[in-house]
Amino acid sequence: MSDNNKQNNDNSKKQNKNELLKNIFISILFIICIASACFLYYINTKNSGEEKELAYTELMNSINEGKIEKIEMTTGSSNVKVTLKGDGEEKDRQKTVIVPSVQAFMEWVQDKVDKENIKIDLKQEPINPFLRIMNTLFSLLPTILLIAVMLMIFKMQGLGGDSGKVYGGEDGSKKTDVRFEDIAGLDEEKSELIEIVDFLKKPKAYLNMGAKIPRGILLYGKPGTGKTLIAKAIAGEAGVPFISMSGSEFIEMFAGLGASRVRKLFEKAKKMAPCIIFIDEIDAIGSRRTSNTGSETENNQTLNQLLVEMDGFDTNETVIVLAATNRPEMLDKALLRPGRFDRQITIPAPDLNGREAILKLHSQNKKFAMDVDFKSIAGDTAGFTGAELANVLNEAAIIATRNKHSQIENIDIENAVKKITVGLEKTNRVVSDKDKRLTAYHEAGHAVVSKFLPTQTDVKEVSIIPRGLAGGYTMYKTNEDKYYVSRTELLEKMVALMGGRAAEKIALNEISTGASNDIEVATGIARDMLTVYGMDDKLGPISLKVDDPYELQIFGDKIIDEVGNQIQYLIDNAYITAQKILSDNMDILDRVALKLLEQEKITSEEFEEFFK
Ligand code: ATP
Repeated sequence: MSDNNKQNNDNSKKQNKNELLKNIFISILFIICIASACFLYYINTKNSGEEKELAYTELMNSINEGKIEKIEMTTGSSNVKVTLKGDGEEKDRQKTVIVPSVQAFMEWVQDKVDKENIKIDLKQEPINPFLRIMNTLFSLLPTILLIAVMLMIFKMQGLGGDSGKVYGGEDGSKKTDVRFEDIAGLDEEKSELIEIVDFLKKPKAYLNMGAKIPRGILLYGKPGTGKTLIAKAIAGEAGVPFISMSGSEFIEMFAGLGASRVRKLFEKAKKMAPCIIFIDEIDAIGSRRTSNTGSETENNQTLNQLLVEMDGFDTNETVIVLAATNRPEMLDKALLRPGRFDRQITIPAPDLNGREAILKLHSQNKKFAMDVDFKSIAGDTAGFTGAELANVLNEAAIIATRNKHSQIENIDIENAVKKITVGLEKTNRVVSDKDKRLTAYHEAGHAVVSKFLPTQTDVKEVSIIPRGLAGGYTMYKTNEDKYYVSRTELLEKMVALMGGRAAEKIALNEISTGASNDIEVATGIARDMLTVYGMDDKLGPISLKVDDPYELQIFGDKIIDEVGNQIQYLIDNAYITAQKILSDNMDILDRVALKLLEQEKITSEEFEEFFK
């Protein structure tokens, strides 16, 4: 959790920095706008300050009529000062005219000068240095603005910014304090990685023996299984600096910047060797190279740079690159070649013992009631990752505090598990009687049907209190870690899923949207049975799981049609079986639904009573 906090801190610092830059940028723009407005105002008032103005046509008429005595012009200005013929002070007879085109006016007035006896006075205005600067600035303004915007975007993109967060660098940054003992379970994975720690601790011994230092290690597994934790523990155990960067941080708006970040990251690491580079979510930059068009070009350049850097290590540079991904199938094959990420370690979700160990590790700073049994919680949380288990205990602590318990009790942990799996209980949501009845039959349908399916686990709890997005739920006991699932089990799972819809139809002669998720899951199972697990009698053991839909064409339309037909057949069959089980046990279905309407929740013991 503390790592997440640190990451959040880093993100918020980055956000603040961007916010500050944005504010500075807006202030500069604001100042430029105000200065421009003042300048324009100054120019305008300067040009039009005199009260006695004459329209251009009036001036032309006055010249034609011989009323003008003198015309004064200043180079570079369209303001012309004219003196009318007449008595009195000269300054009282003066007027200002703005001529649209000085050139055209000069040509026109040329003929009149001698004829009307007009005096022409051409002046060279002394240039005001302030005006000259402002004029130059004005002409440069668009360029300045463009450069400012570019710099701003570059800054926000982190050009020249941090290439990787460093732990234990020469800059005095804090070393990673994670050790192997902070990782529960994963014993085989840890023992495989102890060798790397030794490489980092005593590189010379290995190099003298002629051994090659491993370049890259790819850790893959579901999110939250502890990949980052392992990478940090290696650095912590070896006492070497740890430079961490996420694949998404390489993704830049401008072509070439991602590649430059990769280059900088490796330059930094080489200076700190021996050290570890950790690239999280490497699939963000390491996914298969595609055609060199549009935004793909940038990704391809970044990946190419990564490949170049990994090839470019000297044999005596002890920089080990660890990378993590949840989607190894996405990675470009070139990344997995010898000399790059040639060691791949799967980090699985913990098994029963692993879950118990993780729960115990994360329980250390919390208070638990005496009867809390971590083994039993581990049994109820099959498939949970380390991060989810840590979250369960944290949620349990929050729930216990809210319920004013002096210690975390079993019920708090159970509620935390439910909150994480099905969402928060919405006791305040108003549900109509009609919807309640529909939910009661739907959930009772799942529970009753699964009771008659030998491969399905026992019901743990049935509820019609809304949780998360669900109107109700049926929870099953999960006390067995399974590595393989049989065909019968998958078929029966589909029947259990169809139990909800079947109950609605049989008991209420109505069907609802409440079954949408069940249908989605059941269809997914049917599709995978046919296309991934090769479990169909007609199609046989073939895999139709291909990355490119065009590849499917090699199977021909007949096979594709067959897949569609068989998916439909499996789903229909599951639905019919569920309906049959329920119509044979209508009385139990009614009683379970009624009980649910009465008390909203049924425990596993209460449910079993219906079958005695
Ligand atoms: P992601 O793929 O999302 O980056 P990850 O696999 O890198 O996830 P971590 O960030 O290493 O997962 O794990 C998240 C948190 O889960 C850890 O900080 C730790 O609290 C807990 N955790 C995961 N696995 C273990 C474990 N084996 N032992 C102890 N704690 C664990």
